[in-house]
Amino acid sequence: GDFPEGSTMAKLNSAQKITIGTKFDQPLFGLAGPDGKPEGFDVEIGKLIADKLGIPADKINWVETVSQNREPFIQNGQVDIVVATYTINDKRKEVIDFAGPYYIAGQSFLVPKGNPAGITSTDTIGDNTICTVTGSTSEKNIKEFTDKVITVDKYSDCLEPIRTGGAQALTTDNVILAGLVDQNGDEFEVVDYTFTEEPYGIGLKKGDDDFRNFINDTLEASFKDGSWAKAWENTAGKVLPTPAPPTVDRYTN
Ligand code: GLU
Repeated sequence: GDFPEGSTMAKLNSAQKITIGTKFDQPLFGLAGPDGKPEGFDVEIGKLIADKLGIPADKINWVETVSQNREPFIQNGQVDIVVATYTINDKRKEVIDFAGPYYIAGQSFLVPKGNPAGITSTDTIGDNTICTVTGSTSEKNIKEFTDKVITVDKYSDCLEPIRTGGAQALTTDNVILAGLVDQNGDEFEVVDYTFTEEPYGIGLKKGDDDFRNFINDTLEASFKDGSWAKAWENTAGKVLPTPAPPTVDRYTN
């Protein structure tokens, strides 16, 4: 390829392989099928980046990342990038960098259909127990409103406690919750309320500014040429309305 010598882009292109961390249990964004290959909007974003690197989709090595191991997996080189409903924030930017955002979600609540506990906002949590995931922004945010929080490794692990009464709601990004509702028939619903902004970025090694610029260029091109919208419509867009593309944040450290 015609990438600058010594750049991450040149290395990945000549290896003809990229390792991408994503979620494996989040319908619409990253859900692994019976063949072990994940599908969803995050997966399509990963494929767009690989394609620009001259790497075909079947040469992508997909690795499951959960919320709490994303920074370490990037830091120690277990993955080249993470595309995993990954909120850009200053704390994470101390140890990794982010390209993007490529989508902006907001934190909400998933409850059993009919909302028996009446959780409609952060003001109506009351004495209820809320389930979320260790190491997520969702955990940090909800703990500002209640101490009755249980944490698990993956969002799908919150559904059983809700079914058996150990928790009355699951809190995380509205679009993750929409995928879990869609996957489970008529059992759950998402509360029509959000209380945070979660700009989704692509995590990469801190200080690799050439690679970050390349990914930002790739995202901006996909916003313009329709490939971003197509990626959405083929995945999350089956359940959620098509958003306008966000503005990429080319921050300086
Ligand atoms: N977007 C939030 C985060 O990065 C919540 C979703 C997740 O844990 O992946 O922490």
